[in-house]
Amino acid sequence: MLTDIEIASQVTPKPITEIAADLGIQPDELELYGPYKAKISLSIRDRLKDRPNGKYVVVTAITPTPLGEGKTTVTVGLGQAFGKIGTRAIVAIRQPSLGPVFGIKGGAAGGGYSQIIPMEDFNLHLTGDFHAVTAAHNLCAAFLDNSIYHGNPLDIDQTAVLWRRVMDVNDRTLRDIVIGLGSGNGIPRQTGFDITAASEVMAVLALATDYRDLRERLGRLVVALNRKKEPVTAEDIGVAGAMAALLKDALKPNLLQTLEHTPAIVHAGPFGNIAHGNSSVLADLIGLKLADVVVTEAGFGADLGFEKFCDIKCRVSGLKPDAAVLVATIRALKAHSGRYKIVAGKPLDPGLVTENLDALREGIGNLEKQIENVRRFGVPVVVAINQFPTDTPAEIELVREVALKAGAFDAVPTRVHSEGGEGGADLARAVLRATEEPNSFRPLYELDMPLTDKIEIIARELYGAGSVTYQPAAARALRTFTSMGYDKLPVCMAKTHLSLSGDPNLRGRPEGFELTVREARLSAGAGFIYPIIGEMRTMPGLGSKPGGLNVDIDDDGTIRGLF
Ligand code: ADP
Ligand code: MG
Repeated sequence: MLTDIEIASQVTPKPITEIAADLGIQPDELELYGPYKAKISLSIRDRLKDRPNGKYVVVTAITPTPLGEGKTTVTVGLGQAFGKIGTRAIVAIRQPSLGPVFGIKGGAAGGGYSQIIPMEDFNLHLTGDFHAVTAAHNLCAAFLDNSIYHGNPLDIDQTAVLWRRVMDVNDRTLRDIVIGLGSGNGIPRQTGFDITAASEVMAVLALATDYRDLRERLGRLVVALNRKKEPVTAEDIGVAGAMAALLKDALKPNLLQTLEHTPAIVHAGPFGNIAHGNSSVLADLIGLKLADVVVTEAGFGADLGFEKFCDIKCRVSGLKPDAAVLVATIRALKAHSGRYKIVAGKPLDPGLVTENLDALREGIGNLEKQIENVRRFGVPVVVAINQFPTDTPAEIELVREVALKAGAFDAVPTRVHSEGGEGGADLARAVLRATEEPNSFRPLYELDMPLTDKIEIIARELYGAGSVTYQPAAARALRTFTSMGYDKLPVCMAKTHLSLSGDPNLRGRPEGFELTVREARLSAGAGFIYPIIGEMRTMPGLGSKPGGLNVDIDDDGTIRGLF
C-alpha cells in the first residue's frame, strides 16, 4: 500500500474558494491563505444566526494503544462517506502540534484514503495559529518577569510564578531551566518550557466563543500568586489585551478539505493530557450552520476526550451531540486482554494479527465499558469497527454482538482507511439513523457540586474506580481553589489515555482500583481545574530516531518523508 503522503500527493485539492462557495460562505467571509487554505471570518455567525443547526456527531474511541485506533481517520472518512450518501457534512478536527509530527506519532491528518489535504500544510504551520499562541503565551511571560524586574509592583512571589514559557518543539532540555542569569538580565529564577499545545492560551482559543469571550478569558489567566497568596492575573499584569490582539486571526477557524473534497475545519489543538483535547467551539458552532452534519473528533478514549467534550466543551457552546461514534480496532481489543504489549515502532505480536477469539473475548470488556460511558451521557452510540486486512469475519461478528448487547445503537465495520468514503457508507447510514433516536443528553455532574465530588463521580462512574485518594498537595490545592472561589468550575482530568485507570499497564476493564490524585492545578482562563493522576509530562522528549530524521525537501520545494 502507498504511504499517506503518496496517497495525498495523488489528489489535487479543489480551490478552497470552490469548497467555501459550495457551503454558502460568501467571498467576503473568506480570508485566503494561498489556493487551498482559508480562514472563515467570524462575521459569518451573525449572518447565519437564525439558521437551524445541522446534526452534531462526535467521534470517540475505546481506550487506545500507543498506535492510535483511527479516530481521526474515521472522522475524516465518515465525513467523506456522508458525501457518498448525499448528505452535506463538515469534518472538524484539531490542528496537530509540531512536536509529535517530528517525534513518533505519525501524521494527524487521518490516514490512507481518509486524509485532510494539503497534508504538509495541515501537519506543519497551516495558517500560523500555533505560532500566534506561542507568541501570546510568551508575551505574557515576558511582561510578568518585566514587572518583577521593575520594582515588582504587584508583589509577585517569585517562587509562586505559575506561568511557564512554551514552544512547539519537543525539547526535554527545556523542561527545567534557570532564567535571568548574568548581569542586567532580570531576576534569576527556576522555570521551564511546555509544548505550545499544553499552553492554557491554546485551551482558551479552543473554548472562546467570540472576541469578547477571548479577551475576558485571557484576562482571567492566573499567572502567579502574590506574597499574600492571592492570584495575580494577566489582567493585573496588563498584558491580556495585547495577547488577544496577537490572537485576532488565530480565533478564526481554518477551512481545508479531505481527499474527496469534503470541507474540513481545522482549528486549535489543546493538549489531550492536561487540557480538554477537543477542537474549537467556534469551528463546531460555524460548521453546524453550514452543513447537515458536523463530524467532530474528541481526543483519546471515551473516558477522557468524550467526557470533556460533554462536561466542558458542550457547556461552553450550549450544543448537544445528536450521536456518538465509538471507534474500536480488533487489535487493540486483543491487546486489552493484557497478553500482548504494543510498542510504537516495533512489529506487532502475531497473536494480534491472526484470528484470536480468546484474546478478543478477554479484552472486549473495554469496549463494553466505553459504550456504557457514552450511554451514561444519554447519547446514542454507533461503534465503528475500524477494519484492518488481518481482521477475520468471526472476530468482527463477535465485536458486533458484544457491542449491541452493551447498548450500542449499531456496530458497523468500516474501511475508510483502504477505501475512502465508500468504505464508510454503511457507518454513515447507521449514524444518521442514530441521530433520529431519543436523546437525553446531560452532563455527568452539576457545576455547584464540590470539586472532590466532581472528581469522584468521574472516577467511579466512568473509570470504574473503587476509591479516590488525594495526596496532600492535591488536597491542599483543591482547598485553596475552593477558598479562592474557583470551585464552580468543571474538572478536566489529567490521566493516562492508555488505561481506564491511572495505571497505563492496567488493560481491559479494570474495576475497584484506587485512583490517586497527585496534584491539582487551576486553568482559570480556560475555565477548569485539572486534577493530575500519575505523572503528566507537558514537554515531550524525542526518541533515539525521531520522525523528523526522515523529512527533507526537494529542489522544487516538494516535502518528503512526512509519514
Ligand atoms: P487517532 O486519531 O485515534 O489517534 P489516527 O486516525 O490518527 O488515530 O490513526 C492512527 C494511525 O493508524 C494513522 O497512522 C492511521 O493512518 C493508521 N490507521 C488508522 N486506521 C487504519 C486502518 N484501518 N488500517 C491501517 N492503518 C490505519
Ligand atoms: Mg486523532
